[in-house]
Amino acid sequence: MLYRNWPLTKRRADMSEHLGFDYTCPCGDKFLPLEEEGKKCPKCGMVANVKSPSVAEVVKAAKANIGWPGPLAVMDVSDRYMITALKIIVGIRESEKPPRNEVELEVKARRIVSGMDFSSGEYNRKHANTFVKAVIREAFLKGDGS
Ligand SMILES: [Zn+2]
Repeated sequence: MLYRNWPLTKRRADMSEHLGFDYTCPCGDKFLPLEEEGKKCPKCGMVANVKSPSVAEVVKAAKANIGWPGPLAVMDVSDRYMITALKIIVGIRESEKPPRNEVELEVKARRIVSGMDFSSGEYNRKHANTFVKAVIREAFLKGDGS
């Protein structure tokens, strides 16, 4: 079995990161309940009484998937948020200067959200804005920025 792992290069993880969280509000809306919004449904305002991944956990999974070869499977609602976070992080890293403070964060978040499609429901705009800001804050203004 000496040559089993030939060539002896550093191996990638065999699995992409997924949070495995799904939620559908009684009103039918699928979303990730955000601590930042008191876990309220963006559509009807009902509080989701569930344990959901934090934005910090979403960002951690997103960062772990940066550079993943090939498409990432979308299996649940947390994957949609994680992939959005991944696109935001990569986009800012590759083409823009990362925000250094809350004012720059606001400007960047507004620009990202203005490019989003809310044809499925305008009520999602505020929710998206909250999420985008929390992602940028977590990924660029907190911690080591790695
Ligand atoms: Zn609802």
